[in-house]
Amino acid sequence: MLDTARDALRTIFGFPDFRGVQAQVVARVLAGERTLAVMPTGAGKSLTYQLPATLMEGTCVVVSPLIALMHDQLRAAEAVGIRAATLTSADSNRADTIDRFRAGALDLLYVAPERASGEGFRNLLSQAKLCLFAIDEAHCVSEWGHDFRPDYRLLRPLLDRFADVPRLALTATADAHTRADILDQLGIAPDGLIVAGFDRPNIRYAITPRDNTTRQIADLVAAQPGPGIVYAPTRAATEKLAEMLGRGGRAVRAYHAGLDPAIRAGNQAAFVASEDMVMVATVAFGMGIDKPDVRFVAHAGLPKSIEAYYQETGRAGRDGDPAEAHLFWGADDFARARQRLGEVEPHRQAGERQRLAALAGLVETAECRRAILLRYFGETPPEACGNCDNCLAPPATVDASVVAQKYLSAVFRTGQMFGSGYVEQVLTGQSSERSLTNGHEALSVWGVATADEAALLKPVGRALLLRDALRTNAHGGLEFGPGARGLLKGGETLRLVVPPKRERRRRGGGTA
Ligand code: ADP
Ligand code: ZN
Repeated sequence: MLDTARDALRTIFGFPDFRGVQAQVVARVLAGERTLAVMPTGAGKSLTYQLPATLMEGTCVVVSPLIALMHDQLRAAEAVGIRAATLTSADSNRADTIDRFRAGALDLLYVAPERASGEGFRNLLSQAKLCLFAIDEAHCVSEWGHDFRPDYRLLRPLLDRFADVPRLALTATADAHTRADILDQLGIAPDGLIVAGFDRPNIRYAITPRDNTTRQIADLVAAQPGPGIVYAPTRAATEKLAEMLGRGGRAVRAYHAGLDPAIRAGNQAAFVASEDMVMVATVAFGMGIDKPDVRFVAHAGLPKSIEAYYQETGRAGRDGDPAEAHLFWGADDFARARQRLGEVEPHRQAGERQRLAALAGLVETAECRRAILLRYFGETPPEACGNCDNCLAPPATVDASVVAQKYLSAVFRTGQMFGSGYVEQVLTGQSSERSLTNGHEALSVWGVATADEAALLKPVGRALLLRDALRTNAHGGLEFGPGARGLLKGGETLRLVVPPKRERRRRGGGTA
């Protein structure tokens, strides 16, 4: 069976062999077994249903959440001669597609989940032979997943209506909870789970606290000659950063959903064709783009989750040559993420909180970044990879528990209403009109930080926010969060990576 498939792989797709778990997944599909394949982006998920669809009698129904993505896949399938069509509200040739389906002249039929659940569609499916249900982005079925879509819940009745048709669920999302939920929701037995290796050994991971984003990213861009992507959190930040980076003489374009479609498409095409262009983009950029020689991916802010980080950094180095992924983060990213958490529907909060905690663990660690990533994806990697910032230059750590206690005391004694800058002023005893009027210079915490401790105040403030020991109120003032107690009273320790010595800011004109 697999030999026939391998022949088809060569003749139809022109690939010499399967990659990774593809063979395993294809074999299960051909044997009619229900399967959940967890494979990272770029691992070749589409092939695992496209290939069987060409070999098996009948049509493979592909459920996919994004019309744009469907059309990309349609084009790719048609390019290798697979008979495929999409059935969406955006298609004007629906009648023709339905005719082709009924006549058994389609290998693949792409549909959106909301259509799949309709009565009319169910009737349509009973009018021709089906060979497979492929459910793309299957994590959308889980409330534990990072992208729950209620429409996906409507798939189960359809799948069960055609219970003899094998089902193949596909996702790049990998936390254990979500996986178990997908299996459950889609009626796939636990032994139908196949997980691909997630390691991308040629990508060097580095994660640094933000200090001057523009300068940090400009330095990174200057050191990297090849094409690269810089992810910025907002449309405005994208344009601003693109403008600043462009001043260095490098070819730089911006990409976000607010741009005129023609300009956006033009920028994307220019990037794909270029050998040294930097694309400053929101996360809208990158999906469905096949550019193997991206040499670096930088994040100017915290990604949404570890999955998102993995997926976005995974756009670097698909050709297997060395590539770099550099994330710059700030405590305010976590504060904002936590705020958004409050707006999430109650049933999704636990999952979101866990995702955020995992991200905090990744950015804060003094251990191997890759080990943390791969462990998150359920693998058991070696303790050190030799190709991340922490492996290459193991950071020294300090016990910052006492500084943390002083910091929290200062926040408490000043009434839980001032921002980090002022709290630092109090702790280092820098007199100002404000501290005088507030009467804070008489407090026991006034000037209580030693010179060594003063250097730790910023990272400690960041760590406290990240641990939810401190929270920011609507006016930027710091107040206690649930994590404060353990550090103040519960004997918890706070170990921190020693902050890197920064270049002293140049002061114009002065003599030392
Ligand atoms: P995913 O959906 O998992 O992100 P795709 O299905 O888009 O990945 O495939 C990623 C790329 O890998 C595509 O360019 C595809 O043609 C290529 N590819 C898939 N399978 C193979 C293979 N066995 N050998 C070589 N290239 C492959
Ligand atoms: Zn490492």
